[in-house]
This record gives sequence, C-alpha cells and structure tokens, in this order.
Amino acid sequence: MTRSVKVRKQLAKNARRRCRSVPAKARRKPCTKTAVRSKRATDSKGQRPKVSRVSKGIQTVSERSELPIAPRKSGIQWTGKMWNTVAGCTPVSPACAFCYAGKRLAPRYQGRAQKGGDPGSPYLDIYDSQKKHFSGNVNLIRGSLGDPFEWNPDRPEAVFVNGQSDTFHEDVPDDWIVRMFNVMNLPCLRNYWFQILTKRSGRLCELGPSLLWAPNIWPGVTVENETYLHRVDDLINCGAPKVWLSIEPLLGPMNALELDERIGWVVVGGESGNGAKPDRQTHEEWVLDLRDRCADAGIPFFFKQWGCKAYNPLTEQGKIDPTTTGPRPTKGGCLLQGKIVREIPEQFRYLFPDLKAE
Ligand code: SF4
Repeated sequence: MTRSVKVRKQLAKNARRRCRSVPAKARRKPCTKTAVRSKRATDSKGQRPKVSRVSKGIQTVSERSELPIAPRKSGIQWTGKMWNTVAGCTPVSPACAFCYAGKRLAPRYQGRAQKGGDPGSPYLDIYDSQKKHFSGNVNLIRGSLGDPFEWNPDRPEAVFVNGQSDTFHEDVPDDWIVRMFNVMNLPCLRNYWFQILTKRSGRLCELGPSLLWAPNIWPGVTVENETYLHRVDDLINCGAPKVWLSIEPLLGPMNALELDERIGWVVVGGESGNGAKPDRQTHEEWVLDLRDRCADAGIPFFFKQWGCKAYNPLTEQGKIDPTTTGPRPTKGGCLLQGKIVREIPEQFRYLFPDLKAE
C-alpha cells in the first residue's frame, strides 16, 4: 500500500471520529504509548534510559514535564505563538547553517532536560556538541496535540507550527502529521492562523493532497536562493488553497521566482544567526526587487529584519536604524527605504493589532 493511500485511509477514519468531541478526547488521551524517539540517547554506561509509560487515560508528570523547557510564546515578528509537536531536526540546506533552534535552543533545551532527569523527555538527544547543531534525532512531543485546547479562545493568534523543527521531516510519522491536521482542522480553532513552514517540500507535495486544508492552515516553504526554487513548485502543488514563502535568510537574487496566484504572503529577512559570515549578507536590491514584484502581484510583503547592523544599508551610510532599539527591536534593524514594511494578509490582520501603529 502506498503512503498516500495509507494517509487517505487514516484521514477517512479520523474524519469519522471528528464528529465526536475531539477536544475533550485529546485532553483525556493524547497518547497511550511511550515517548518515542527515533534514535534514543544512552547514558554514561551506554544503557538506554528507561522510558516512562503512560497509563491509560492519564498523563504522567514525566510526559508533561517537558513543556516548561520550550516556551510557547514566540519572539518572531510575523507570528504569535509556537505550537511544537516535534523536537529536533536535521539541517538540509544553506538556510539551516545558523538555525537559531539548532544552534541556540537545542543545547539549552537538552541541558534543561538532562538536569531535569526525565528519561522520557523528547529533548534529551537533539543536540550534537561536536557539530554544534541539531544531532539529527527527531522526537515526538507526546501530549502536545492537546495544547491547542488550552489556548484562550478569546485571544486567537497566528501559530507557527513546529517552528523549532520541520513538520515534514522524514522521521515524523505520517500518522503524527495526520493527527496534527485533525487538530488544526477543528472548527473551534478556525480563528487561529496555522503557519506551517518546511524545507522538505517533496514530502509536503507527496502528503499534501491527502491532507485537509482549512482556510486558516497555510503551508509555506523556505527559499534562500534560486537553487531551492523547486520548493516553491512543490508548495504550489501541495493541495492547499493558499500558501506563503519565507525567504529568509535571503542569500541571493530571486529573479527567477514566479509569484503564483496561490502565494498569499511573502516574508523576507536577512541572516540573523550569530557568527554568520559577510558572504551571507542580504543585499538591498534583492529585497527591493521582491517588494516591488509582490506589490505588482498584490501579495502582502513582510520585511522582517536585515539580520545584523553591518548588513543594514543605513549602517553603510553612517546612520543608525531606530528599529534596532525600542519596544519591538529587530536584529540589525528593519527599515526598508525609511519604512517598516510589515504587511499581513487581509483575513488575518485582526491577529496583529499592534502592527497597525507601525
Ligand atoms: S529545517 Fe528549519 S529547524 Fe531544521 S535545521 Fe533547518 S532551519 Fe533549523
């Protein structure tokens, strides 16, 4: 049986269940299995740690104890909060070289998990201190599928889905992705905007047509230069009515990018990773070209930041970009020809009330 047939069968099965009260069910029984990790860590004696079991219908302290390790609120300007259902990742292209999640967060979370002494934590083996990046282990965060039912329904937000990993990573089981979509498709979550971002566009294109895409679930791909434009083709063909692009860090001109009508949003930013070399500088003309072409195509354009002060065109003119400080500082500043450009698709503007002032 092919993977897409399996996924379709699973979807049909879950759609039948959806008529029941899924929120209550998800809270009560998110999973009755052990915390599974694709490659489990060993202790100092080379032994695999014991994994705590979850008794039927009850989440153990062990299962939930991982939650404080990764905060849910996001500091990213174009989203509101994170919904992480997966821990760990594998770098796949130049955009990953200075990935904040892999370089900065993974060692922090792994350290906290080790200190916490929870052998079932999904963060225990996600960092490789030799590579100084993600180890390549990917673990499911059991219990996280129930998180959306704890969100305040009176304060909907944009939700960056698996912003510290990749939903379509090859080690994330199809079944887990289907279950995530079952949650995101619930009518009670229709006021949230689920922003899924992947660099595994091939798998998105393969699974996408079997998934349900409510109008508030937008998949996107990262494209850092023209070498990865094939990701945009995959995205366009994934079956979602509206999609978005994250062109961050922008590492080259994007002349060959075609702005299909299904692209509903374009986010652009410079390299903000610590230790990045000057060859990763985002050039102003590349950004202006994208801004102008988005304007011509009627696509909202969001310029996040220059990445570091040295890359900011104002710095070259001996000036200071005021957006590097203040209540909403951006790394390297974000003025684009003197303006903050943070456009949001019309239907989701209510999720960003503070952007009106800018
Ligand atoms: S795919 Fe995303 S989360 Fe994974 S290493 Fe690359 S930038 Fe980081």
